[in-house]
Amino acid sequence: MEYHHISGPRRHRKWLWSGLARLCLVLGLAGTISAQHNQPVALRELVSPTDALAAQDLRFDARAAELSLQYLQSKDTAVLEQLVQSPAVTHLLSHARNFDYDVPTDSAQALVRKLLTSPSKSPDPQRVCRQSMAFFAGPLLDEPHWVNDTLRYLPVGFRFHATLFLTYGYDIGVAFAQSASLNCAHPHFDGHGRELLYYAIHELHHVGFYSIKPPRRFSEVKSCRDLLWIAQYHAQLEGMAVLAAWQRRREEHALDDDSDYVALRDEAQMQREEGLYFEELQYLRERGDAPADQEAWAAVGIMSAQRLWYRVGARMAQRIEQVSGRQALIALIPEGPDQFIAAYLQLPPRPALTDHSTDLRPRTSAPLLPPR
Ligand SMILES: [Zn+2]
Repeated sequence: MEYHHISGPRRHRKWLWSGLARLCLVLGLAGTISAQHNQPVALRELVSPTDALAAQDLRFDARAAELSLQYLQSKDTAVLEQLVQSPAVTHLLSHARNFDYDVPTDSAQALVRKLLTSPSKSPDPQRVCRQSMAFFAGPLLDEPHWVNDTLRYLPVGFRFHATLFLTYGYDIGVAFAQSASLNCAHPHFDGHGRELLYYAIHELHHVGFYSIKPPRRFSEVKSCRDLLWIAQYHAQLEGMAVLAAWQRRREEHALDDDSDYVALRDEAQMQREEGLYFEELQYLRERGDAPADQEAWAAVGIMSAQRLWYRVGARMAQRIEQVSGRQALIALIPEGPDQFIAAYLQLPPRPALTDHSTDLRPRTSAPLLPPR
């Protein structure tokens, strides 16, 4: 018997959570608070069985964020051990090792110790994390059809087999292999819960993209040609993820809440950034099979630090979509980053504009609001 279809899985879960909350309160008063409050939730439990999203194998798991807060408050080593062994931390460690992140990567213990002591630049990271946890367990899952925004920029019939974690202290959000995560304590989310949702669209797009065209390990980069591939791959990867969240941000008047979307609507700035991106690309191309030395890595460093991958990547992806269609843009994922760049360069020149700022303006009639 499937009674949960009658009352709806969310109501059932909320009842369960409130029960567990009471139980945690009782146990907490007894000094042995449990870490089992936020059990993972499957997307298919949140929608009707006839909804297309019910076919997606996607889970939401906030246990790492919760365990982090519990440990910071209790200093209970058993809680710390649970956190160290959590799938979220395994995911973060894999990400750090693949992309040579500046965090301890010798062990999960060392990584967790670092994340708990320097989670973000927020004045009160634990408060921000509590807010994020409430949004993650509430609005993010109450209406989960935002997942379709991600799927719209992946091949038709794409199926997730993935988990989105809420973590504590690592970047703003990352993706690797079959999982993605958002950092509950990041200052970007302070007072802006819906940013978690936009970043979820972004990070989950990476999960889909990786499954079609996996990233390379940074430690395996040998030549400038390898770096050229990375410089192009990450523009395609980040550009499409930025584009995936664009429409919802526009409709919800949230373009001004993220500096990339502000920059993308400034045509003069984008022309400068695009010029810089292609300059660095040309430099790497000319160096061919030369070893990837410090100078060559510096070219990639500029692209990352100045967010050229996100902005110029999104500008290229959006232009390809506008001229050739979304399916053509999606078909470029398996073809690879060389083809993505080539497809962009083959497009007819952008129409000259009397008002340059209108090129990337919203296509709907929704007005832009001043920054919040
Ligand atoms: Zn990204």
